[in-house]
Amino acid sequence: MNHLTPETFDANARAALTDTQLRGALRKATALFGKRRLEAAQSLDNWEELRSKARAIKDETLLHLDQYLEEFTANAEAAGAQIHWARDAVEANRIVCRLARERKARLVVKSKSMATEEIHLNAALEAEGIEALETDLGEYIIQLAGETPSHIIAPAIHKTKDQIAQLFVAKLGIAPTDDIATLTITARRVLREKFAAADIGITGVNFGVAETGTILILENEGNIRLTTSLPGTHIAIMGIEKIIPRFADLEVFLKLLTRSGTGQHLTAYQSLITGTKRSREDEGPDELHIILLDNGRSRMLAHPTTRQSLACIRCGACLNACPVYQQIGGHAYGSVYPGPIGAVITPQLFGLAKAAQLPYASSLCGACREVCPVKIDIPELLLYLRAEITESSRQEAEGRRQEQVVTPRRLEGFTFKLWAAIMTRPRWYELSGRVARVLQRFIVRRNRIGKVGGLIGRIAPPLAAWTDARDLRPIESKSFREQWRQRGSSPTVREGAWINVADDK
Ligand code: SF4
Repeated sequence: MNHLTPETFDANARAALTDTQLRGALRKATALFGKRRLEAAQSLDNWEELRSKARAIKDETLLHLDQYLEEFTANAEAAGAQIHWARDAVEANRIVCRLARERKARLVVKSKSMATEEIHLNAALEAEGIEALETDLGEYIIQLAGETPSHIIAPAIHKTKDQIAQLFVAKLGIAPTDDIATLTITARRVLREKFAAADIGITGVNFGVAETGTILILENEGNIRLTTSLPGTHIAIMGIEKIIPRFADLEVFLKLLTRSGTGQHLTAYQSLITGTKRSREDEGPDELHIILLDNGRSRMLAHPTTRQSLACIRCGACLNACPVYQQIGGHAYGSVYPGPIGAVITPQLFGLAKAAQLPYASSLCGACREVCPVKIDIPELLLYLRAEITESSRQEAEGRRQEQVVTPRRLEGFTFKLWAAIMTRPRWYELSGRVARVLQRFIVRRNRIGKVGGLIGRIAPPLAAWTDARDLRPIESKSFREQWRQRGSSPTVREGAWINVADDK
């Protein structure tokens, strides 16, 4: 299991650069995706117009997100879905685990979903003793390997065919082979049994249509069809930014998403799900739960620059185009969201302090902006976040400086208060003299401090500054009062008036 974090991005990237096998796999895959994307985009004569349209739809939706979410909720509920709101990952996991517990679920089948990766749902389910099995082939491979995805749409992009074959031999006990058909048939055999036995199916969502309450999930393997129709309960986890206003808007996004991601004109399957099944004879689950996940998205919504991060449709094109990602792959980012979009989303989702190195993981060449189907200005976002990081470091340094000034002031204030308390209480004053004499003896002996001409030349911190530029007159071995008492007369001390008595001598 790779446990890389965004905090150690520099070190992660250096390590990845020494991995020649990884770099070879990345070079091959990103070049292929890039070429296919270009061909697919050129197959449409209104590509740029579609990009502008998609961005305009996203901008309008994000500006009125609250209204569209309400509309989506009302329509989805009217169709039989149950809507849950999750402020953060903990809440989302709690909802899923509660639903699973209530249904006494032991096995959950999952389709590929970045949102569930983001909230670490598998770990939460496993902590409840529930097996969560990934059913997308790429996700299944990395789950077998105990790794995390390294690409938004191709989770096992960093693995070669040989590595996958060895993994299947080791984990599934098949005879050694490098035949791709044999490997996929093996995975299918294992997964089909699990689909049949699963209690709950969990998916992500590509788009949620406010107008109809429909969710759309795209895939190429048919595993989502099985995940959403065989188990009795379907739970869909959807980031709140996945909303689009109208059903007709799907036409724009469907043309852009797959062309940008894999170069396909359309994915093999598109599952449009509106509520639960209408009659017992229909296919599909009895219950549909949709969890609307915020987890930091509202923060991004608040500022016009960061808001555009929420326009992302997770096509992965910016990863394939990025010269940094092409060299180091996804794991180095230490986040579920790698590449250029990861470098802007991760610090916003998980905090600048945790991912301050990521906005610098870019040459600002602009390749990501060029390929983004929704025209997200990633270089602008990177610069915005860099400015935020610089500003927060400046404020931190200023805070430290203030603290350094404030601490001596506080110490000074405390010292004078103590001094005043002692000087206005004769008994305290006398006692403090005794204590000081004992301490002086101890300190002088312990530090072998020499007295020069009857003066102390150096004392230890925190009072060392006193003797930096002057000698210290030692405290007399007997106080004035003790000397006075020895002479046989005791001063009659009134509280707060001893100086007058002493002056009387
Ligand atoms: S930022 Fe743009 S290119 Fe990158 S994943 Fe999102 S939509 Fe695709």
